[in-house]
Amino acid sequence: MFMFAGAASSLAPIIQCAHSWAADENAALKSLCSGKLSFFNVHTREGVSVKYLNSRGEFDRRAMTKLNRVFRCRHNHEAHPIDRNLYVLLDAIKSKLGSHERPYLLISGYRSPELNDYLRSRSVAVSDRSFHLRGMAADVSMEGVRLADIRNVAVSLNAGGVGEYSNFVHVDVGPVRSW
Ligand SMILES: [Zn+2]
Repeated sequence: MFMFAGAASSLAPIIQCAHSWAADENAALKSLCSGKLSFFNVHTREGVSVKYLNSRGEFDRRAMTKLNRVFRCRHNHEAHPIDRNLYVLLDAIKSKLGSHERPYLLISGYRSPELNDYLRSRSVAVSDRSFHLRGMAADVSMEGVRLADIRNVAVSLNAGGVGEYSNFVHVDVGPVRSW
């Protein structure tokens, strides 16, 4: 409790900006963040590299729009607002890995219900309540970084769901759990 109070006061400006968030969790995560994110979508072959947080920890709307676009459904190309916590979590993971300059390879971001149904018909590993449907999950990898390392760092942050698959790591900002 006291430790949290200390951390909170040193991060007060960030917490003020993140008023719609669970501030305690995200202040700790944001303190790890570089404020920058790069992705390369392996399906659309599109890349994005943005500074999405300013020095006061506020989100840059234009950067978020660009990120959301690259995260759009690969089936119907519908862009969905992605949960900001997910971007913060991915940034924190990258920072902890020390891989600042590497883009994430994005295998799956937002999924429309149609795409999710299609993927479910082909794999038992796809849930009908997938956090991908709510813009709260990403399947990622990173060139030159072991999936196990991404997984372990993500688990250590205790900030959502983490699952390792054969060619990507799933992270989401749902309840904390891992597989
Ligand atoms: Zn996933």
